[in-house]
Amino acid sequence: MRDWSLELFPPVVSFPPMTTLLIATRNNHKVGEIRAILGDKFRYLTLADLQNPPSVVEDADTFEGNASKKATELARWLISNSLNSQPSTLNYILADDSGLEVDALNGAPGVHSARFAALDRSAGGPPASGNCNTPDADNNAKLLRLLKDVPLEKRTARFRCVIALVELDSSFVIRDSSFFNGACEGRIGFELRGTNGFGYDPLFLPDGYARTYAEIGDDEKNRISHRARALWKLSQALRDIGPK
Ligand code: IMP
Repeated sequence: MRDWSLELFPPVVSFPPMTTLLIATRNNHKVGEIRAILGDKFRYLTLADLQNPPSVVEDADTFEGNASKKATELARWLISNSLNSQPSTLNYILADDSGLEVDALNGAPGVHSARFAALDRSAGGPPASGNCNTPDADNNAKLLRLLKDVPLEKRTARFRCVIALVELDSSFVIRDSSFFNGACEGRIGFELRGTNGFGYDPLFLPDGYARTYAEIGDDEKNRISHRARALWKLSQALRDIGPK
C-alpha cells in the first residue's frame, strides 16, 4: 500500500510539484477513465492511497447531493487526520456520482443504481440506503426483469454523471467548489452483451450504436460516455491550472 504520509508530505527532491487530484473512489474502471481523459498533467491519488478513509453513505436524492457529500466528507476527514502536520501538496478533491435513468421506470434506478437489487430486499423494512451495493449481475437481472415486456422504442435511458470539484487550501479547508454534468442518451438492450467496463455497461446501447458500452471498448466509451462529457467540462475548467 502506498504511504499516504509520504504522498502528502513528499521529500523535497522526490518529484516535481504538480497539481494533485484526490479522486474519491475505489473503482479502478472509473479512475482509469478519469486519468485517460484528464491526462498526465496531474498527480492522482485515490481512496486506495489513504489509510481508513471515511465510508460515505450515499443517501442524497440527487447526483449532485451525493457527489458533494463524498467530496466534503473526505475534506473533513483530511482535516481531522492531518492536524499538527505540515502543509500538504494536495489541491483538489474530485468526487463523482453517476447512474442510469430508465424512462419506462420513471427514472429508476437513478441515484440507487449501485444498489438497485438491494432495494427489493429492504421492501417493507427500512429503506435501503447507504452503501449496501449489490453485484452488477443482480442489478442487471432486475433491470431486464422489469423491462421484460417493454418494446425497444420505449426502452430509452441515459447515464448521468455529476462531478464535484472541491479546491482545498494547504490546511485542507475548502476554498471553492463547483459541479460538472454529463449525460449519454441510449436504450436498454434485451440481453447482456460485451465484457468491457462495469455496472450496466452490457445492457446500455448508446444512441447511434448497435453495440453496448461493454462492447465498444474503453477508447470509444471514453469519447462518448456521460463521465467523459462531464470530465471534458472539468478539464476545460482545469486547463489554466499549472504546476503548484
Ligand atoms: P457511482 O455512484 O458513480 O459509483 O455509480 C453508481 C452506479 O451507477 C454504479 O455502481 C453502476 O451500477 C452505475 N454506473 C455508473 N457509471 C456507470 C458506467 O459508466 N457504466 C455502467 N454503470 C455505471
